[in-house]
Amino acid sequence: MTARLIDGIAAAAAVRASVAIAAAAFCATTGRPPGLAVVLVGDDAASSVYVCAKGKAALAAGIYNVSHPLPAETSEADLLALIRSLNVDPAIDGILVQLPLPPQIDPGRVIAAIDPDKDVDGFHVANVGRLCVGAEALVPCTPLGCLQLLKTTLGDLVGLDAIVIGRSNIVGKPMALLLLAESATVTIAHSHTRDLPALVRRADIVIAAVGRAEMVRGDWIKPGACVIDVGINRVGGRLVGDVAFGEVTKVAGAITPVPGGVGPMTIAMLLRNTLLAAHRRSGLAVPVNL
Ligand code: NAD
Repeated sequence: MTARLIDGIAAAAAVRASVAIAAAAFCATTGRPPGLAVVLVGDDAASSVYVCAKGKAALAAGIYNVSHPLPAETSEADLLALIRSLNVDPAIDGILVQLPLPPQIDPGRVIAAIDPDKDVDGFHVANVGRLCVGAEALVPCTPLGCLQLLKTTLGDLVGLDAIVIGRSNIVGKPMALLLLAESATVTIAHSHTRDLPALVRRADIVIAAVGRAEMVRGDWIKPGACVIDVGINRVGGRLVGDVAFGEVTKVAGAITPVPGGVGPMTIAMLLRNTLLAAHRRSGLAVPVNL
């Protein structure tokens, strides 16, 4: 058996096309484009690449995009003052502060300062709570992208056994909540989980979000399972996921490649969240295909 490749690049292009249509319609209705502010503190190379990619994608989708590059020695007070000004800026619908932040800045305090209705990363506790109780939330982009890939591949997720490996606030926990909301039966595994291979063997859906190169092996996978590899690990100048791709493709029914799987969907979902925030803040109905 050879697993079907889940093409994240094509899926992301489709989301971006819908976002571009929605952005043009929003602009025609309100007289302004949706706006996204991206804040980058310091010059971390990976963060700079992500911020640049997000800016380009926003521009291509017709989103007004302002980037705020700040020096590494920026004080927490100065960053909080910038966020307060973005919170009240009517041209800005989404605020993203690229993580990680330098050590003098507490990321918790920064996330808490963002207006939850502009929190397009979905990290504010108000959005975490809304997601948890099934209220209208802004949901973190990576798990949202994974869910979309799963639904496109499998259709209905009701009653399926899912395992999420990793319990971070950014990926694992919101992923588990999204799967639960789809009525999957969800197991959350982490660094203290006993006999992980046995748990993974029961799962119809495997989400690997650990940050350990090729940890999930072929003989852990239930034949036909759908495997979503969130991991991005640099090994000898090459990017590999958390899943041993060569082994797992022989057993799984479908799998995301790394690169070209979850990564492009993360950026597409950031654009989608910006459009969602823009519509809600303007009291407009959210387009159905967004
Ligand atoms: P994290 O370090 O915050 O969390 C890792 C999780 O893995 C922790 O909950 C930990 O308990 C768990 N873990 C560690 N060792 C384990 C083990 N042996 N068995 C089971 N669980 C174990 O990482 P994160 O921010 O959630 O990111 C995870 C991975 O996803 C990283 O490789 C990151 O680069 C990648 N990532 C990719 C995207 C994307 O857009 N594709 C976005 C975010 C993160």
